[in-house]
Amino acid sequence: MFRAILIEKSGDEQSVSLRDLPDERLPEGDVLVRVSASTLNYKDALAITGRGAVVREFPMVPGIDFAGVVEASGHKGFSPGDQVVLNGWGLGESRWGGLAELSRVSGDWLIPLPVAFTPMRAMAMGTAGYTAALAVMALERHGVTPAKGPVLVTGAGGGVGGVALMLLHARGYRVIASTGRVQEADYLRGLGADEIMDRAELDVPARSLARERWAGAIDSVGGQTLANACAGAGQDGVVAACGLAGSMGFPASVAPFILRGVTLAGINSVYRPIADRMAAWAMLERHVDIAKLAAMTRRIGLEDVIGAAGDLLDGRVRGRLVVDIAQN
Ligand code: NAP
Repeated sequence: MFRAILIEKSGDEQSVSLRDLPDERLPEGDVLVRVSASTLNYKDALAITGRGAVVREFPMVPGIDFAGVVEASGHKGFSPGDQVVLNGWGLGESRWGGLAELSRVSGDWLIPLPVAFTPMRAMAMGTAGYTAALAVMALERHGVTPAKGPVLVTGAGGGVGGVALMLLHARGYRVIASTGRVQEADYLRGLGADEIMDRAELDVPARSLARERWAGAIDSVGGQTLANACAGAGQDGVVAACGLAGSMGFPASVAPFILRGVTLAGINSVYRPIADRMAAWAMLERHVDIAKLAAMTRRIGLEDVIGAAGDLLDGRVRGRLVVDIAQN
């Protein structure tokens, strides 16, 4: 038996509970992993509360990521005892995910746990941190450098935003943090912000073009915020669109793209090739300051997950919630 969060649906009614499940209920896969740690990501909170159409098959074990130890393997790349990490690949959406003591997956989806991290530290970053790294990689792939100007990070008080602040600061960028929690300015400066902006400033209808204020932006919010991030980007600026914490909409003008050559770079962390994943984790390994990571992390148990999901969606969680599944 293993403990897992289970989301079930009967008619239009969704229910969620912490359950003991027999091992035989695990899905097919060539690697069995004993999960050490997982996280509560924004997408997991949408799935658990039913506030977003994340789950595509019921019953579902949520959890889009985990770190753990291989217990059995029929995959040539992994052996029992190996420490591994998984992000995305549809876990918690169409495949049973990481908010459970056991997970059975394809070995093609796993990467080795980066040597600098314990499972808990890797999950302190989790998919939010890995996504922040993919976003920084996208800015730089399209030509953003510290010399070209500052980078705007929206949703800075959240998981993607917090790790983006750390990575950009460590890579020499001047960073503007947009947040609804300006009272957390000291915390955000501690992570790497040079300037704090009230998010209300960006949550207004966007002009076609605004004053050039940043060379790049990493946006977790969407909607008017994303439109304003594009309108305020400088010549050949790059905006990485990661999330929709504010809105799924994009009420924008084409002006930044055709008059300033701005690039809108979409970030999809779920189906990245292994090489991109390894590069993103290597960036996290190189730059993440463990003490700063601890400051943006709260540890919870599997039994706390359901209650925490609503808090996360309501913006009452600062930084990252790590789920200590093995009770390390
Ligand atoms: P999170 O920890 O909940 O952070 C989201 C942050 O957005 C909040 O802390 C808040 O920051 C801000 N925010 C929340 N509601 C808002 C609103 N109504 N208007 C404006 N700002 C708002 O979530 P996360 O894990 O960082 O994820 C952020 C987003 O990225 C989510 O939409 C998530 O689904 C998405 N995501 C996408 C990928 C991908 O592959 N593309 C991967 C991971 C996450 P402040 O309090 O500082 O304002």
